[in-house]
Amino acid sequence: MDNTAYTGRFAPSPTGPLHMGSLVAAMASYLDARVHDGTWLVRIEDIDEARAIKGADEAILQCLQAFGMRWDGEVLWQSRRKALYEAAFARLGENAYPCGCTRREIADSRIGVASDGAAVYPGTCRGGLAEGKTARAYRLRIADACRITFTDRWQGEISQHLPSEAGDFVLRRADGFWAYQLAVVVDDADQQVTDIVRGADLLDSTPRQIYLQRLLGMPTPRYLHVPVVTNSAGEKLSKQTGALALDTANPLPELLRAAAILEMPLNGVGTVEQFWQSALQGWHRRFGD
Ligand code: GLU
Repeated sequence: MDNTAYTGRFAPSPTGPLHMGSLVAAMASYLDARVHDGTWLVRIEDIDEARAIKGADEAILQCLQAFGMRWDGEVLWQSRRKALYEAAFARLGENAYPCGCTRREIADSRIGVASDGAAVYPGTCRGGLAEGKTARAYRLRIADACRITFTDRWQGEISQHLPSEAGDFVLRRADGFWAYQLAVVVDDADQQVTDIVRGADLLDSTPRQIYLQRLLGMPTPRYLHVPVVTNSAGEKLSKQTGALALDTANPLPELLRAAAILEMPLNGVGTVEQFWQSALQGWHRRFGD
């Protein structure tokens, strides 16, 4: 791997306190950046203002510090960067089109289910809004027969046929907020992120993001998607599935649990400092080049 310019990032959504799933993602991206002598950025993804919880951003930042992770440079907040998303959207021109369909109408069309469980958009408004419809969201027109293939540093080769597995996806939501897919692509390019290390729950989104990067003439970073933490019912850990906040007063056991999920069990580690030393060595052996 070319280490000359490595920039990684951790991009939490402030929808609640940091939980084990987000600690695992933060730890992996932090270790990867440090092992490659890179820069590690933190970006607060509060673009979905309806879901952001007041104070969760500061709590997440404090938690990262309590666990011994230090970021480089200024923290960015997506909610303060809307002009960039607007400009990128404008550059997409005719590739973005208004859609008047309701969620119900799309679900009823049953043309297929995307890999993330959402209904694939049937393309109803591709040729223009039907009579009597008003624009709700804006979608990206996906070229027919488009397949995106990339090599993930953990998961191996990933390939997705975008029209059937994702479909024309939303860039600007019906509530007026910019969609995650657009904001994340714009920010990663603007911050010159070279390496994205995050949870495998986002693996399905990556081909859409690569497609957008290509349309916008932006470079595609390297990707590494770490295993997703699930609860006893097999659901992805999140505030909705009852994830517990982490115990920042007693960080070592939490760090060791996260390392075990990263398949890096560490023995004989008695302090947070020793933890990071061993974890860096372990990561270096696996992903150092
Ligand atoms: N904000 C997203 C989340 O917390 C992560 C985005 C990303 O890493 O690309 O799930």
